[in-house]
Amino acid sequence: MPLIAILPGDGIGPEVTREARRVLERVGDFTFEEAPVGGAAYRETGHPLPEATLALARRSDAVLFGAIGDPEFEAIERSLRPEAALLGIRKELNLFANLRPAKLFAGLEDASSLRPEIARSIDVMIVRELTGDVYFGEKGHRKTPEGLREGHDLMRYDEREVERIARVGFETAMRRKKRLCSVDKANVLETSQLWRDVVIEVSADYPDVTLSHMYVDNAAMQLVRDPGQFDVIVTGNLFGDILSDQASMCAGSIGMLPSASLSGEGGRGMYEPIHGSAPDIAGQGKANPCAAILSAAMLLRYSLGMAAEADRIEAAVAKAITDGARTADLGGSLSTTAMAEAVLAALA
Ligand code: ATP
Ligand code: MG
Repeated sequence: MPLIAILPGDGIGPEVTREARRVLERVGDFTFEEAPVGGAAYRETGHPLPEATLALARRSDAVLFGAIGDPEFEAIERSLRPEAALLGIRKELNLFANLRPAKLFAGLEDASSLRPEIARSIDVMIVRELTGDVYFGEKGHRKTPEGLREGHDLMRYDEREVERIARVGFETAMRRKKRLCSVDKANVLETSQLWRDVVIEVSADYPDVTLSHMYVDNAAMQLVRDPGQFDVIVTGNLFGDILSDQASMCAGSIGMLPSASLSGEGGRGMYEPIHGSAPDIAGQGKANPCAAILSAAMLLRYSLGMAAEADRIEAAVAKAITDGARTADLGGSLSTTAMAEAVLAALA
């Protein structure tokens, strides 16, 4: 039986992962084990990512993650902050690909920042590289000879890093509409020229996928002008960071959007809502559990090979929404539990 590690974390994390677990229990047989992470773990053990939590993640077939972040720990040393736990798990599990779908559920047109007819056309999966680029290249700051403060962050990728993320992009496109758009800035950046060359080389292994290339500035514009043109976008860490947040605003509430972090084909992954711990509404039972429930669906699809069950859960969320189920972020008044029950009812 597959082992699913649940790391509920802080704030609304425990409230939403509890509901996602109920939905998982309804569609299959799994063993669940829970462990603390983030501020919750710091309180219990003095560290945001205890060894036992890491060991559980390593042992599991997939990790369902809630959220971390606790205002109480904002002032402490960076390595002990709740957020440090996320980087620790990513590193340990070698999670180099971040997948973020953005799609508008029918009935939520008013929540999108786009005009309804444009918002309705969006159904894009952004595949973002997570371990390289300017965030992890050589960094530094110094005084120039004329005494000015100067900072630098080196943008770098090697071909192996580009190849593995390109493969995730192509594999993802194979599961969807078989269209992949690679986003770079190859007209001015060496890293992007390498990126483009390697993506083209990898494309030889995926003759069924239609590959296109777009400069990142154009991609940002096209995402709000005509998002329906995209199926899967594959891009580097920095461009992906920006584009995935942009795409999520097109799709309505932050409470609806899941994500996956993967270590390669069919491997273990970590699945979590894109939202944070939402301290402002924690403990009030009004968080939207859909992002966590949809993260559980991605877990089934990408780590456990249970695409049919994933489809069922996604369809149930869509049905609950069309039937009018709404938490406060969607302009309604259902509690977290009542929203999950609407999804469970739609599953049946
Ligand atoms: P982080 O830095 O951890 O990403 P954040 O401060 O950027 O956190 P969130 O914790 O995601 O932000 O919260 C942003 C806003 O969205 C808050 O007002 C929060 O209440 C709201 N929010 C986040 N998740 C949900 C949810 N599942 N349901 C309803 N509202 C939510
Ligand atoms: Mg945030």
